[in-house]
Amino acid sequence: GPAPEAEGPARDWLGRHAEGFGHFIDGAFRPAAEGGAFESFEPATGRPLARLAAGTATDVEAAVAAARRAQGPWAKLGGHGRARHLYALARMVQRHGRLLAVLEAIDNGKPIRETRDLDVPLVARHFYHHAGWAQLQATEFAGYSPLGVVGQIIPWNFPLLMLAWKIAPALALGNTVVLKPAEYTSLTALLFAELASEAGLPDGVLNVVTGAGETGAAIVEHPGIDKIAFTGSTEVGRAIREKTAGTGKRLTLELGGKSPFIVFEDADLDAAVEGVVDAIWFNQGQVCCAGSRLLIQEGIAPDFVRRLKRRMAAMRVGSPLDKAVDMGAIVDPVQLRRIEALVAAGVAEGAVLHQAPVALPEGGGSFYPPTLLTEVHPSSIVAREEIFGPVAVAMTFRTPDEAVMLANNSRYGLAASLWSETLGLALDIAPKLQAGVVWINATNLFDAGVGFGGYRESGFGREGGREGALEYLKPDAWAGRAPREAV
Ligand code: NAD
Repeated sequence: GPAPEAEGPARDWLGRHAEGFGHFIDGAFRPAAEGGAFESFEPATGRPLARLAAGTATDVEAAVAAARRAQGPWAKLGGHGRARHLYALARMVQRHGRLLAVLEAIDNGKPIRETRDLDVPLVARHFYHHAGWAQLQATEFAGYSPLGVVGQIIPWNFPLLMLAWKIAPALALGNTVVLKPAEYTSLTALLFAELASEAGLPDGVLNVVTGAGETGAAIVEHPGIDKIAFTGSTEVGRAIREKTAGTGKRLTLELGGKSPFIVFEDADLDAAVEGVVDAIWFNQGQVCCAGSRLLIQEGIAPDFVRRLKRRMAAMRVGSPLDKAVDMGAIVDPVQLRRIEALVAAGVAEGAVLHQAPVALPEGGGSFYPPTLLTEVHPSSIVAREEIFGPVAVAMTFRTPDEAVMLANNSRYGLAASLWSETLGLALDIAPKLQAGVVWINATNLFDAGVGFGGYRESGFGREGGREGALEYLKPDAWAGRAPREAV
């Protein structure tokens, strides 16, 4: 196969910070105020990767103060002035694309093919798109002002992409940011902040504070923050909603999912099988909108499962830096054990386990094979709970109405995918699915111009496009009285 991706430049950068990272505040790395630190590990080997600062309320205070000082001048730059910076960030991501892709693969465990061909290009695209919103701000959002300082808390499954989804709209529209990456995957956020500063982003506009849940809680509780934007688990999202209730803080939540992937009997089965690969084995299934509930029409179920098992057997699990692997490592042993426990619970409730007989890498890494559970009852824990791993859970249905009922039988509502060669059927079913996005004969497609977000316990608010931009603006007091044309 192809040679593994060269990891030298990423390892060199880590080597330059071998003594440990600080927080990135006001344009430079600063040591943690109270000196707390924690270790970050490499998912594919289990070896320590970096020493990170554990942020406290004091660090958050310093970051918020820097963001507050920077916000006035940043807003005064105007949309055109900020657009220049967003273009510069997009070009910076492209220029350092290889380094960012390799570091992301090392830190998260996801395959280099994904970080190189999806994560990094989507990140660049997000900044280009939002440079456009900055340019259009004066005309499209006349009568609106930036919120001020926003606190942003992101998960570990798409560290760079979630950073882009958060900071691009916030910065484009005149806000400044205090961002906390997930404790498992903070490295690309720190590299991004360092590169952004070199690319001319003014000090204090983007501050990165590292740490675990307590650091996130300190951001949520800081009175000087005007909005919290959170992506992560429904449980933490609920806690944040409770804590921000009764404060003036704005809030958007992007939470979990258990999205249906519906295969009708007239679907192009080969295409649908590839769809399942993208829906649940992409990024080791650690995708909030993963098509994790596979709903198959009864007549084709045996044939479809047979094809799927054949495809699973051809998948390669291995080192994230190997350009030929389909699946890399699970982000952390804690997540691996959670996946194993949920699969065991499903089997105990009667599900039949199909695992590809693929070789898993030896050593200290966290690996899990592509997995399919069949004969699953809709009330089983594996049909209800988000597994957040490479585990497809299959159920069957007889009629389109039953498919809709099963699909909507969830506390979540993030995404849905349906497969049929009958356009009339697809267009009849799609609006009946209670999900923030419905893909027809496709899955896991993202576009910076299309608002992404959930229904029900998948959260509220949208990221991307016009709706996403509005989440970072407030209407001016006088705007309601002034005709738009007069602005
Ligand atoms: P998590 O909720 O444990 O952590 C997310 C972030 O919140 C991390 O940075 C974490 O340090 C921080 N955090 C933890 N406790 C906190 C607290 N009490 N106060 C403030 N911050 C706190 O989630 P995770 O395990 O990192 O991510 C997986 C989850 O994220 C899944 O449920 C997945 O579906 C969801 N997710 C959703 C989307 C979406 O757009 N809807 C995208 C990606 C992931």
